[in-house]
Amino acid sequence: MMNDDPQIRSLIATLCRQFYDQGWVSGTGGGISIRSGDTVYLAPSGVPKERINPDDLFLLNREGDIVQRPTSDALKPSECQHLFYNAYNLRDAGAVLHSHSLNAMLVTLLYDDVFRVTHLEMMKGITGVGYHDVCEVPIINNTAHECELTETMADAMKAYPKSHAVLVRRHGVYVWGDDWKQAKKHAECYDYLFAAAVRMKQMGLDPARMPEATL
Ligand code: ZN
Repeated sequence: MMNDDPQIRSLIATLCRQFYDQGWVSGTGGGISIRSGDTVYLAPSGVPKERINPDDLFLLNREGDIVQRPTSDALKPSECQHLFYNAYNLRDAGAVLHSHSLNAMLVTLLYDDVFRVTHLEMMKGITGVGYHDVCEVPIINNTAHECELTETMADAMKAYPKSHAVLVRRHGVYVWGDDWKQAKKHAECYDYLFAAAVRMKQMGLDPARMPEATL
């Protein structure tokens, strides 16, 4: 059953502005989607994310069919739709975020197939990950069109069932959570870990190596 909630509409507009200020959705890239029950709220494609209005959103059902369009006919649904649906279908996520963060992009140049860090406090913000664990995020290769990533992203999610994110090489990251708060927390913690790994590698440190007792 469709559920058109004005609070979720304005929440998406607010989060888009916050993510724009963090440099995650600049140049109209990136995006966010929230699911409430069987209704999926999706931001439009190719528009300045910091200026999205609550009326600009698409509402879709669980199968991905549009059930409500924005008031403006000129808007198209996000190109990330199928990638967001990977998180809804494979993980039963309640929200998904796609970030073009510089930290996420740069870290994909420093690892082969999997991002790995260990013994960093912010890992504890990722559900199911402890300080002594190794936090892993699979990296898939970029394609010319965003929708072509759908299958490789799904394969990576199946291969790394504990990860709440998939990195896309030279591009950015998809992050999800059980609800929007968890998705946002995961996105912030992962972004910190990506930034930390880039800096540690610059300093000649291996972020995946168990620290010595004194460090
Ligand atoms: Zn993108």
